[in-house]
Amino acid sequence: MISLAATETATAFVEKRPLERYTAPAQPSLVGMPRAVLAQALAEVGVPEAQRRMRLQQIWHWLYVRGAQDFDAMTTLSKDLRATLAQRFTLARPPIAAEQISVDGTRKWLIQLPGERAEAPHEVECVYIPEVDRGTLCISSQVGCTLNCSFCHTGTQRLVRNLTAAEIAAQVVVARDRLGDWAPTSESTRMPAPSDFPLAGGGERRRLVSNVVMMGMGEPLYNLEAVRDGINVIADGEGLSISKRRITLSTSGVVPNITRAGAEIGSMLAVSLHAVTDELRDQLVPLNRKYPIAELLEACRNYPGLSNARRITFEYVMLKGVNDSLGDAKALVRLLKGIPAKINLIPFNPWSGTQYECSDWDQIEKFSEVVFAAGYASPVRTPRGRDILAACGQLKSASEKLSARERLALRAMAMTD
Ligand code: SF4
Repeated sequence: MISLAATETATAFVEKRPLERYTAPAQPSLVGMPRAVLAQALAEVGVPEAQRRMRLQQIWHWLYVRGAQDFDAMTTLSKDLRATLAQRFTLARPPIAAEQISVDGTRKWLIQLPGERAEAPHEVECVYIPEVDRGTLCISSQVGCTLNCSFCHTGTQRLVRNLTAAEIAAQVVVARDRLGDWAPTSESTRMPAPSDFPLAGGGERRRLVSNVVMMGMGEPLYNLEAVRDGINVIADGEGLSISKRRITLSTSGVVPNITRAGAEIGSMLAVSLHAVTDELRDQLVPLNRKYPIAELLEACRNYPGLSNARRITFEYVMLKGVNDSLGDAKALVRLLKGIPAKINLIPFNPWSGTQYECSDWDQIEKFSEVVFAAGYASPVRTPRGRDILAACGQLKSASEKLSARERLALRAMAMTD
C-alpha cells in the first residue's frame, strides 16, 4: 500500500538493465505456494498421504532455505518424485524485467506477473534497502490501487488485480535470488536467523533480507486473505523465517479489516494518517470519507497485541502549507495520545502533475521536534533518506518507475526505525 506514494522523479540509481524476457508460465510454479496448496499439489501427483507431510517439509526446505531452482537439486527426494514433480510443476520465479542498483546499495526490481494476455504481463515493484543493522524488502500486494489518495502516484493508476499469496511470497524469493541470500549448500550450515543480522565480528555470512514491509503498490487490507497467506509463507519458521515482528503491513485505514488483520496475521501495522482533521484527510485519503479518523484510531487502539513493545507506526507525509504547521504537529500528538505509536514523517517527493510540494526541511525539523518532545520516536529519516531526496530533486523528470522506487525506498526506510 501506500502512502509515501506520492512521487515521481529522480534517481540515485546508477545501473538499469533488462534481465529477463517475459514468457507466460506453461505450468504452475511451486514457489510461494502456501503449505496447504503445496500439500494439495503433492496429493495431485500421487504422493501417498502417509508421506505427504515429510515430503512437504523436504520441499519446503529446498524452496525456502536453499532457494532451489531445479528439482534435481532436491537430493533428499527420490529421483522418481523429482521427475514426477518436474512433469507437472516448475520452480520458476516471476521474471524480473529490470533491475536498478543505487549508489547506496538500494535495489529495485520490476517484477512481471501474468496478465490477461500472455504477451502483456503486469508489473509490480520490489525494493531492497540495505542498512547497517537490517535489510528491508518492500513488496506489493496489488497491481495498481483503487484508493486515489491525492498525493499518491500509484493512486492515479487503476486497480488491475490482486496479487495471489504465492505472488506476494515470491517477491521475497526473487530478492533472495538476486542477493544470493540463501543458505550454503553444506548440510551442516544453517541459514542465519534475522536476529543474526549483522553477525558480530564480521566475516561470517549474514542474512540480507531481514525485514519485510508491505508498502509497495496496493492496499493490503483490500487483499487480506492473499496477504495473510503470503505472509504466512514468508514468516514460516522452517522456511523464509522472517518473523511477523519484522513484517509490517501498511494500510490507508480499511477499518473493518484492521482488527481482522491483527487477529489473523499478527504482523506489525502501519497506518497512513497524513492529516489531523477529517476535512483534510477526506482530501488526501478519500477512504477517510468512509472511515473517518475517530473510527480509524479506535480500530488502532483495539489492534490485537498492541503494546509498547509492539507499537503502530503512523505515517505522515509532509506537504508544504497543507498539513505541516506546528499546530498540526500538536494536534497529531494529541490525537494519538494513549496509543502505543511511532510517527514517521515522510518528506513528500513530488511527481509530475501533483498539486503538492514537499515541506521545507526546516519546517519538517520543527514539526519533528514537537513530535519528539511529546515522546514519540525518531520521526525523520537519516542522511540516506536525505541523500535520496537530494537526488530526487536533481533528476526530476526521470520515469515514473524510477520515481516509484524513490517512494518505496523512502517509505521503507521510514519504517525501519
Ligand atoms: S492506498 Fe493506494 S492510492 Fe492511497 S497511497 Fe496507497 S497506493 Fe496510493
